[in-house]
Amino acid sequence: MAATIKPIEAKSVHQIQAGQVIVDLCSVVKELVENALDADATTIEVRFKNYGLDSIEVQDNGTGISEANHESLALKHYTSKLSTYDDLSELQTFGFRGEALSSLCALSSFTVNTAQAHEAPKGKRLQFETSGKLKSTSFIATQKGTTAIVENLFAKLPVRQKELSKNIKREYGKVLGLLHAYACISTEVKFTVKNTIPKARSAVVFSTKGNATTRDNIANVYGAKMLSQLIELDMKLDFQSTLTQLSRSDVDCTKVSVVGHISKPVFGEGRQTPDRQMFFVNGRPCGLPQIAKAINEVYKSYNVSQSPFIFADLKMDTNAYDVNVSPDKRTIFLHNATALTDKLKAALTERFDNIDQTVPQSEV
Ligand code: ADP
Ligand code: MG
Repeated sequence: MAATIKPIEAKSVHQIQAGQVIVDLCSVVKELVENALDADATTIEVRFKNYGLDSIEVQDNGTGISEANHESLALKHYTSKLSTYDDLSELQTFGFRGEALSSLCALSSFTVNTAQAHEAPKGKRLQFETSGKLKSTSFIATQKGTTAIVENLFAKLPVRQKELSKNIKREYGKVLGLLHAYACISTEVKFTVKNTIPKARSAVVFSTKGNATTRDNIANVYGAKMLSQLIELDMKLDFQSTLTQLSRSDVDCTKVSVVGHISKPVFGEGRQTPDRQMFFVNGRPCGLPQIAKAINEVYKSYNVSQSPFIFADLKMDTNAYDVNVSPDKRTIFLHNATALTDKLKAALTERFDNIDQTVPQSEV
């Protein structure tokens, strides 16, 4: 007998979709840190309890959330950043879909403490229902800015919660990799990351200084010794577009520059591991597997036994890529990836070939 086709109940739809936005611990931290950056924070503190299993808190000193927005804060597709699809290509913010906070309500116990400049040190503590509706509001003492608190992540999806606790150390390692990327690229923001494990004191995992260069940030995150192993990348790549029909005629998608730092292709001390590789598009941390592969391949042709440290920011017109590819926004689609990759390999080879003529970067 054929089953009747009928709609899934709204609550279940919300949970199913939430599970695609917030897929793991990394997505939680990514969404909350990006919200803090979007709110113009200059200090961001990320606090884990028990590696994130018990709670994750992200505190910023940004704009805070106005009282008028408290009710709609965690409703699905409510955002202050985008209102029509056409706005997407001009977007300067990390967030745009208004899905993160609503998803966190569906998957955890979610609380926000917030105060705008004129309200601090008196702020509001907001608690939300699974649906994203505001459940309760109370007064609380807090500095200007916002603290988002996620407790008992995935408690509402028991299978995923079990997976998370089984793999928590590995997940936490991935999160640190992500936080390294945000901390290193954010020259205007002081990042502090702490973890408290049961029966121990809270420990600072790393912190940056704020108002610093990317080199300073790298030294604070990876240790000053790292700097002597690095050379600067500043490569301008101009190439023929293979997909001009995708580009608007008034913008140029065929000019990309790559700025950042990479290990010298000589045998340095110790072994660099591939997890010290960070990629960005216009300062937005993202996975760029094709670009990563290309850079690693060139490096391997000079130094077969080590993997490089890579910090590579690809600067390009906002029309040359699409961030709206996957629900978690981790995938970025580059319109001219193949042509770009070929050009990049040639430029990096030239950079490595000319390494002796360049002035070494001074030690800190
Ligand atoms: P999005 O970032 O896509 O807009 P979110 O669900 O992440 O969606 O956030 C919803 C809205 O809540 C944001 O548009 C923003 O107005 C507000 N918001 C979230 N986090 C913060 C924060 N840390 N500081 C100030 N406003 C915030
Ligand atoms: Mg967001």
